[in-house]
Amino acid sequence: MARVFNFSAGPAVLPEEVLSRASSEMLDWHGTGMSVMEMSHRSKAFKEIIETAEADLRELMGIPDNYKVLFVQGGDSLLFDSVFLNLAPHKKADYIVTGNWSNKAFKEAQVLGDAQCIASSKDKNFTYVPDVSDLPIRDDADYVYICQNETIHGTRYVDLPNTKGKELVSDQSSMFLSEPVDVTKFGCIHAGVQKNVGPAGVQVVIVREDLIPDDMPGVPTLLRFKTQADAGSLYDTPNCWGIYVCGLVFKWLKARGGLEATKEYNEAKAKVLYDYLDESKLFKSTVEPKYRSIMNVPFVTGDADLDAEFIAESTAAGLANLKGHRSVGGMRASIYNAMPIEGVQKLVEFMKDFETKHQA
Ligand code: PMP
Repeated sequence: MARVFNFSAGPAVLPEEVLSRASSEMLDWHGTGMSVMEMSHRSKAFKEIIETAEADLRELMGIPDNYKVLFVQGGDSLLFDSVFLNLAPHKKADYIVTGNWSNKAFKEAQVLGDAQCIASSKDKNFTYVPDVSDLPIRDDADYVYICQNETIHGTRYVDLPNTKGKELVSDQSSMFLSEPVDVTKFGCIHAGVQKNVGPAGVQVVIVREDLIPDDMPGVPTLLRFKTQADAGSLYDTPNCWGIYVCGLVFKWLKARGGLEATKEYNEAKAKVLYDYLDESKLFKSTVEPKYRSIMNVPFVTGDADLDAEFIAESTAAGLANLKGHRSVGGMRASIYNAMPIEGVQKLVEFMKDFETKHQA
């Protein structure tokens, strides 16, 4: 069966080379006579898999030694809680709300303590990122929180906020490993891997060691960063298969030249789509040009019936999952690392044909 071009926002397209490799190793991983799904997480073989994955991730992102890398479970949404529990000892944190995901993180922090929204782009339906150069950050806030790429609204930060000395915490789920980042600018980065890096069920936390609290009375063991930091993410049974596939993706990214090369490719891909959206008379981008994500590209025709027709016809043409998120409607093309430029070219050709047909 032919594979389609899959524009899903997540779980999302993975590199074909990685899927083939996982498939060829399915019955026998490196002479162990078993699949990674069948081996003990305490085995020598799995130890090698998780340690290699961490080492490759450290190399790709240039993660300094004073940061811990954790592979955890529970969904990235659970990290909205764990981040607050671990990183807000005074139970006070300031949030910048630029869309659905930063808003969810903010609301979750409000359940647990004193979270304040210090800037928002809600006034224009989250179609931009507000000025973050001089924010009303509270003197006693423990950190400033952002979602660096909003998956649903399709915005991304161009400049990181001036946190006035506070730690910066970033949800990088939908941009993870899509471009180089300077890890030292963050106290903590967290990401669900099901967009750019692997199968659903693994989250990566990169957290500066000195921010991990030693003593957290009243906080469940698995919500304490220290638990997995001390145990090399093996306190309990991890998502072994998920971590293995992430490891294959890390190797794939390294073989392609790392994150600089990946960024270049991603920018070229996004340009093909945005250039067309800017010249089209039928389709338009919903995001201010400066803040457009190179990973998630929402667009609309302005006519819900036409949007529905476009989605049905594009699906039939092998362009899968272009329907926008149910909360915003329209279309969205997620063009993560593993989406080849040919997929975006085919999408643009299809859009051009659709436009011609509907102008006639
Ligand atoms: N943050 C961002 C930026 C996301 O896109 C998502 C999921 N789409 C989440 C957090 C939540 O992830 P999960 O479904 O793993 O809880």
